[in-house]
Amino acid sequence: MNKEIQPKYEAVTVTCNGCGTVIETRSTKESINVEVCSKCHPFYTGKQRAAAAKGRIDKFNKKFGM
Ligand SMILES: [Zn+2]
Repeated sequence: MNKEIQPKYEAVTVTCNGCGTVIETRSTKESINVEVCSKCHPFYTGKQRAAAAKGRIDKFNKKFGM
């Protein structure tokens, strides 16, 4: 009898601290928190979402000493 083998990669959620987006993915980690994600990062979106994004941009600039 073959028992069901639990996969190494469990489904986990990546939570974005920037916009609150929760992304489901697979990883060996239990959970992941990120500062910015592809949805709210101005470099990825190509847009700056007005005031909502300003704080994160400042934070980003500080982080990289810009
Ligand atoms: Zn985000």
